[in-house]
Amino acid sequence: MPRKNLIAGNWKMNSTIPEAVVLAQEISNRMERDWLELVDVAVCPPFVDLKPVKSVFEFDRVDIAVGAQNVYWEPKGAFTGEISIAMIKNIGCAFCIVGHSERRNLFGETNEEVNLKARALIEADITPIICVGESLSVRDGGTYLDFVTAQVRAAYAGMDAADAARTVVAYEPVWAIGTGRTATADQAQEVCAAIRKVVGELYGEAVAEATTIQYGGSMNAANADELLSKPDVDGGLIGGASLKPADFAAIVAAAGK
Ligand code: PEP
Repeated sequence: MPRKNLIAGNWKMNSTIPEAVVLAQEISNRMERDWLELVDVAVCPPFVDLKPVKSVFEFDRVDIAVGAQNVYWEPKGAFTGEISIAMIKNIGCAFCIVGHSERRNLFGETNEEVNLKARALIEADITPIICVGESLSVRDGGTYLDFVTAQVRAAYAGMDAADAARTVVAYEPVWAIGTGRTATADQAQEVCAAIRKVVGELYGEAVAEATTIQYGGSMNAANADELLSKPDVDGGLIGGASLKPADFAAIVAAAGK
């Protein structure tokens, strides 16, 4: 079966509840129902916006999933300020981003933590969107494939094939996030193909072929078509453009072609 593209919006730390409700409503209004047959779509708002955003989509009966941007792997207890997997599950999250470069770089999230989060999410039947990607200095140094594939291997540590089959990987070169400097379609394809190869080495061809591998990094309405035309790019993790309903809708439309 051909892989379906997944377009996921990462709203980052934007939108109070009233703003999030308006944004979700505008996104819902622009989604053509036939696009949603062809493309999986999700938005990942801040924690406090998850329930209101989910309610908008439920009320509209529009098939847009919600996801969290982060989570803690322990089930409950004295972890002040953290949010558990049961909490996001209860809201109805289908996805959770883990290992976003902003969390790795600003909050010190390690490969080991990414792995703990991903495994705990899979156990709860929430799909982790595992973010990997190299910095500009690693790209310029030429070792980016080794760097990214090492991140992928670390994220999958201790997972069996059935677990791995329930993950999404997002290749997000750090130098392309929020910078307006997009990877070329060939650059995105090269790394997404390398990631698929590693998944194949770890879990076999069938899992590799079934795994959704997104590109993220300044994807927008103008460049989505070309990026998404590449065979190993199965959608996008969208930051800035996911806050603009017309642009987000245009990316979903491009993913459905
Ligand atoms: C992101 O933060 O995941 C991202 C891809 O951001 P942007 O689209 O703004 O580069």
